[in-house]
Amino acid sequence: MTGFFHEHVALTALNTLGIVAHARRLAVLRDEAQLPTLLADGDFCHGPRLILGGGSNLLITQPEVNASVLQLATQGIQLVADDGHHVLIDVAGGEPWHRTVRHTLEQGWYGLENLSLIPGTVGASPIQNIGAYGVEVQDRLHSLRALSLPEGKMHVFSRDDCQFGYRDSLFKQQAGRWLVLSVRLSLSRQPGALTLYGDIRQALEQDGIAQPTPLDVSNAVMRIRQAKLPDPATLGNAGSFFKNPVVDAQHAARLLADHPDLPHYPQADGQVKLAAGWLIDRAGWKGRRLGPAGVHDRQALVLVNHGGATGADILALASAIQAAVWAHYAVTLEREPVTV
Ligand SMILES: Cc1cc2nc3c(=O)[nH]c(=O)nc-3n(C[C@H](O)[C@H](O)[C@H](O)COP(=O)(O)OP(=O)(O)OC[C@H]3O[C@@H](n4cnc5c(N)ncnc54)[C@H](O)[C@@H]3O)c2cc1C
Repeated sequence: MTGFFHEHVALTALNTLGIVAHARRLAVLRDEAQLPTLLADGDFCHGPRLILGGGSNLLITQPEVNASVLQLATQGIQLVADDGHHVLIDVAGGEPWHRTVRHTLEQGWYGLENLSLIPGTVGASPIQNIGAYGVEVQDRLHSLRALSLPEGKMHVFSRDDCQFGYRDSLFKQQAGRWLVLSVRLSLSRQPGALTLYGDIRQALEQDGIAQPTPLDVSNAVMRIRQAKLPDPATLGNAGSFFKNPVVDAQHAARLLADHPDLPHYPQADGQVKLAAGWLIDRAGWKGRRLGPAGVHDRQALVLVNHGGATGADILALASAIQAAVWAHYAVTLEREPVTV
């Protein structure tokens, strides 16, 4: 299809790790009116394809991505219901996540403040069920609209249909099948339901704020994240590179006997979540480099591109870290970003 897909398009500025790569072909979808044109493209619907949002959770491992890449750039936030206590809003998949968070706060619609400053798009937010400071998008998601690309059929998913888990969902499991076109969020008009995590509480106390508004919480989260995480605009990264591992209670008890300061979070099913950043740090990897790929010096969970790193360089570093954490603690670290 001429005019919609462009051939051999640079992806370097479209992935926050800054991996140098090209797409065999790429199209930008700005309006759902373009969907019939997209669905008429056999190469896209039946060949290898990649949906791209902000590229902030991707590890590209090949210099030439042999796929039809579709970047979703649809925009718009609509109020669809308001009973005076709660609102329902529909947000287009291409809307930047953080801009949406700030917009909702300006309108007096609360609930997303803890998720401030997470990069990427709204359409990608359910893919790995984004989360931070005790809140996950599943806690605020009412439903979503997604297109099954092989069949060209639209589906509405309730929250339960999405099969959300820790940094997981049906859409992550069935990668490439679904194009999430819009997300319906359920937000509160009452600023009461704030989850104040330790870091946020501390930041607010430092500012002398005893009765924080949701906007205060959003500002505190932004400051904490800016201090702790590297800005992809200056140092390529994809946020947390590993999930926090979950181990059984006996394994956790053995580790805690040897390392009482290991941060751990008991789960409802009796298992225990461990802090991956602590494990990487204590295995000796914080701030270290393997060639142009490195571990951030303030946050051991974040792998960075010091300049010119390939996907293979990042993977080699990740493997070395996984081997070290296994050797020290017999814990398996699972990668978080999607590998292309
Ligand atoms: C500095 C930094 C901090 C971060 N902090 C957090 C954090 O606190 N919590 C957290 O959970 N994540 C965090 N992340 C990871 C990332 O921001 C999120 O996973 C985000 O949702 C990715 O959005 P994106 O638009 O960039 O997705 P992309 O990286 O473009 O895509 C990620 C995956 O989603 C798929 N996808 C994207 N859009 C769609 C769509 N519309 N329909 C179907 N599939 C789609 C892609 O095919 C790919 O498989 C961080 C990343 C960075 C760089």
